[in-house]
Amino acid sequence: MSATASIQDDVETVLVTRQDLESAIERIAAELTGDVGDGNPILVGVLIGAYVFMADLTRALDFPLEVDFINASSYGNCTQPQQLEIITDVTCDVTDRHVVLVDDIADSGQTLKALVRMLQERGAASVRTCCLLDKPARRTCDFEADYVGVTIPDAFVVGYGLDYAGNHRNLPFVGILRPELYQPSK
Ligand code: 5GP
Ligand code: MG
Repeated sequence: MSATASIQDDVETVLVTRQDLESAIERIAAELTGDVGDGNPILVGVLIGAYVFMADLTRALDFPLEVDFINASSYGNCTQPQQLEIITDVTCDVTDRHVVLVDDIADSGQTLKALVRMLQERGAASVRTCCLLDKPARRTCDFEADYVGVTIPDAFVVGYGLDYAGNHRNLPFVGILRPELYQPSK
């Protein structure tokens, strides 16, 4: 049997270390505790990318909350309103509830902007957005997350829930892949 391949070998640069992730989560947890800690909020993770962040963030919180997930993606552009495709919807009723949307990264901002509007239309008492990573250079709409873990430059990143072609979600940090994995030599 050949030696087991390590996905860490695919990483060229570690952008956000485990320690950076831990301190960002602690800071966001303190902010959420102050803002919604007495509101029995529903934390809604945006699948698939947010699953690792959700697991760590919710365990850093010590107040009553509910957890739900939504699998959705958006398409559209600057001139067209965001179109939202719901692949799997939340199971809870958000009417009159405080909702915190939790996502891996704000890139164009289209997905979270569309999800905020959808949850507001369903009658949520409040909708807040929380992103582990923020790539403001890529924004195509006026979206700003209420809670941001780490602001990163315009690079495609993987790890800690984020994938490239389905892989690398299980890296314990956020990094940039070796370029030859994106552009295989001919
Ligand atoms: P949006 O463009 O709507 O802000 O982001 C939509 C989704 O695209 C994100 O939630 C994330 O799943 C994916 N995405 C955006 N930027 C990156 C990135 O740098 N790496 C990975 N793996 N996914 C990304
Ligand atoms: Mg996502």
